[in-house]
Amino acid sequence: LFPDDGYDAGTLMMRADAAMYLAKRNGRNASRFYTRELASSVDARIELENSLRRSLRNGDLILHYQPQIDRRTGRIVGVEGLARWQRGDRMMMPGEFLPIAEETNLIVDIDQWAIHAACRQNRIWQQAGLPPIRVSVNIAAANFDTDQLVDTVMSALEESGMAAELLELEVTETTLMRDVQRTDRTLRALKALGVRIAIDDFGTGFSSLSYLGNYGFNVLEIGQSFVREVADPNQAGITRAIISLAGQLQCRTIAEGVETHEQASWLAANGCDELQGNLFSKPVPASEFARMYARNRTWTIAPPPATNQVHWS
Ligand code: C2E
Ligand code: MG
Ligand code: MG
Repeated sequence: LFPDDGYDAGTLMMRADAAMYLAKRNGRNASRFYTRELASSVDARIELENSLRRSLRNGDLILHYQPQIDRRTGRIVGVEGLARWQRGDRMMMPGEFLPIAEETNLIVDIDQWAIHAACRQNRIWQQAGLPPIRVSVNIAAANFDTDQLVDTVMSALEESGMAAELLELEVTETTLMRDVQRTDRTLRALKALGVRIAIDDFGTGFSSLSYLGNYGFNVLEIGQSFVREVADPNQAGITRAIISLAGQLQCRTIAEGVETHEQASWLAANGCDELQGNLFSKPVPASEFARMYARNRTWTIAPPPATNQVHWS
């Protein structure tokens, strides 16, 4: 508001911008006014953004890797790369820096970096004599607004020499439904390269079921919110339906955030193909993952107790 918040257009725009970010952070579709308290939080935000940008250049961003376990063999069949920010002596988690990265579009650079990093790392494992493994990377919606995603994937594959079918890109339903035409073009180009596409946290966003059939999506990931609720008959019904839908679409299913033996055995008994979660391993640095994979770490997924027999399909 002139003149309370500033005398010139530049200052007023900057402060209006800060208020807009606050409105977005509060769940969008809202209005907020600039305040003095906001000014200091804006300074902190700018500092965080600059520092993140520097870290991306300096190699302070790393990927941790979480194994994905085949329910039949109990062996590692894939791995998800998850971004971590080594900021001084503190390890920052995606929840702490991705929101800023998304607001400032830095997320596009981060995801491009992550694709390269995952392919490079995977190649290093192979060169060290480990069997080829599928690696997945999370792709934020903003990457579909540029035409760079396909080029990035192509150059990462070329530079690393990694086979395209070993790369899996995780996108959310919300991303897919944002700009259907544009996403369509990008998805087709990615599929043509031979990379796999997974739908992250399937069932928690809004997607059209008819749209699902249009692409050969390779994986439906069952998010932790469903995995936690397998003891609840209504939620369990939805999870079973997702697994069956995936089967019809010839997609693999991966359950995420598996924390207990009960969840693992229920999911395995109900036909979920792969399991991922802290029960097996937390996301770990590349070297630690390599050790686990090299000694062919295997888990036993026990069938559910007799009282749960009703869940066997
Ligand atoms: P996501 O892709 O759904 O990844 C799964 C998240 O669940 C990861 O959180 C993982 O550490 C966590 N998790 C795995 N097993 C368990 C478990 O048993 N219990 C619990 N409570 N959590 C578990 P993380 O690493 O904090 O990442 C959070 C989200 O940030 C990811 O969710 C993904 O959407 C996003 N993300 C991470 N790295 C990147 C990246 O490089 N690019 C983009 N665009 N997004 C990323
Ligand atoms: Mg993911
Ligand atoms: Mg997920």
